[in-house]
Amino acid sequence: MRDEAIFAALEAVRAACDTTARRASDPVGFVHRYADPLDQELVALLAASVAFGNVQAIRMKLGEALDRIGPRPSVAADDERALFTRLDGWIHRVYRGEDIARLLIGARHLQRTHGSLGARFAFDLASHADLREALAAFCDALRHEGGFPLGAASTDGAPARRGPGHLLPDPRGASGSKRLFLFLRWMVRPADGVDLGLWDVSPARLLCPVDTHIHKLARNLGFTARNDLSWRTTEEITRALASFDATDPVKYDFALCHMGMLQRCPSRRDAKKCEGCGVKPVCRHWRHARGTGSSKPRRTLAVSGER
Ligand code: SF4
Repeated sequence: MRDEAIFAALEAVRAACDTTARRASDPVGFVHRYADPLDQELVALLAASVAFGNVQAIRMKLGEALDRIGPRPSVAADDERALFTRLDGWIHRVYRGEDIARLLIGARHLQRTHGSLGARFAFDLASHADLREALAAFCDALRHEGGFPLGAASTDGAPARRGPGHLLPDPRGASGSKRLFLFLRWMVRPADGVDLGLWDVSPARLLCPVDTHIHKLARNLGFTARNDLSWRTTEEITRALASFDATDPVKYDFALCHMGMLQRCPSRRDAKKCEGCGVKPVCRHWRHARGTGSSKPRRTLAVSGER
């Protein structure tokens, strides 16, 4: 019964999502401005890679970078010296223009060698049974081609900066690789007005890009009891989502994430802040509350082992 109620809530959240409006406020909106799949791949990789922190700041700095790069990123990335010049002086948090130039140059090398980033990733998937290893091999290739190995000192001999390693992390680490899975979701999931369905990869292979919004909602729905945004948490949440649709486990991600952003989930029973939340009927903070009239949280049992 509970699974059915959660499934109904997830479907309702997805149906209620104003995709057009939300896409316009999301980094993926930039990807849809380009017509050529080669440009879309590069813009998606860049947009997902810088997608951490305040979304308005991300969109502003991303827009500035793309204006500098010009209307055809795949053409611009072929002229490597000019690309460095175009992006010189661009800064966003720990990233500098030279970091994103190297990312795009590396990606463009892979496009020229394999035909597309999607073809390269399919090759990595075919070469590694394990998704994590395949993704790590893909990132290794990007770093190698772009000339920014993890932890390398900068070209002027100064100490290593955090930017390059953060821009394209190593999936072998403990992190849940949220930005990489965001990129994969955009490229792999069937075209639905948000995701683009460019790559010939099964959506069933994807893991959920777990950010703070998804993590909070997942805990409140009993998908995980874990406190971190690690790979293990990502797997747990994806497994729970796969129980509703194993062929496309991350199809609720966009709608849930945007609902989380709008709702500013307090992760406790708060009549005002929880008003209008699409998963309130199945939220652990509310599901025993019907008819009690009480706003105090009750102790809940059997939420992924949590008490
Ligand atoms: S009902 Fe409230 S606590 Fe529960 S997920 Fe929604 S906003 Fe968060």
